[in-house]
Amino acid sequence: KIYTSPIIHPQTLKKIGFVVVINDVTEVRKLERIRSDFVANVSHELRTPLTSIQGFVETLRNGAIEDSETRNKFLNIIEFETERLTRLINDILSLSEIENVKEGLITEEVAIDKEINDIFYIIEKSAYNKNIKLIKDLNCDNLKINSNRDRLRQMIINLIDNGIKYTPEGGFVKVTTKKLNNNIIITVEDSGIGIAAENIPRLFERFYRVDKGRSRKLGGTGLGLAIVKHIVESMKGNIAVESEVGKGTKFIIYLPQNKKI
Ligand code: ADP
Repeated sequence: KIYTSPIIHPQTLKKIGFVVVINDVTEVRKLERIRSDFVANVSHELRTPLTSIQGFVETLRNGAIEDSETRNKFLNIIEFETERLTRLINDILSLSEIENVKEGLITEEVAIDKEINDIFYIIEKSAYNKNIKLIKDLNCDNLKINSNRDRLRQMIINLIDNGIKYTPEGGFVKVTTKKLNNNIIITVEDSGIGIAAENIPRLFERFYRVDKGRSRKLGGTGLGLAIVKHIVESMKGNIAVESEVGKGTKFIIYLPQNKKI
């Protein structure tokens, strides 16, 4: 790895001290590249809905406004794109907040099953609208976890939201909790379109989507899973994915549990 570094000749690597420096430089460069890629991506992601809004406003102004059917159709598109922009900006802010909290997120004792029950109330309507069955199998009744409540909710909501988005009508999304050794395990499983094995390694990258068109149509921002991954890491946990194309997807989160009531 070190010898492929383009800036240092191998002969300068005699002292072990240099090795550390080289790795640091590569790391800094990598971070810089990730940051500048992110800025480029964000600009592109913001520009797309803005261009679309601008185009439809112009067409309306040029006469389409006179026809009520066309007017309604275009206004709906403008509304949809505006909502997507809002979600995108909220997601970018969330990511930057989670990343920038140096001293760690403010935590409290959170009863995991109660939070999931609350989330189900919030999310029931969008599942119902799409004729998707929401199922829960909660087994952490008396367990609390030291966590940031809002982030914990955001993590679970993002996964359930995706389950609903990427599952055709008539399917299900199931949330399970259980305790195993010193971990709380939360799984969010769906009977949806699934993800091909070759796409799984990039799934948690910002703005990565398996099918850009489909994600856009469903109002996705491409940041949901990146946010989930950051939250899981901030809780010193792990996340795994199992999926089969055409069958469904299962996200499994392992959170170290620290207290029992
Ligand atoms: P998006 O806003 O596009 O949904 P995410 O970061 O939440 O962005 O997810 C990234 C991509 O991973 C999605 O575009 C989709 O291709 C894929 N994906 C995420 N969750 C699921 C799921 N439950 N089933 C199938 N594909 C999924």
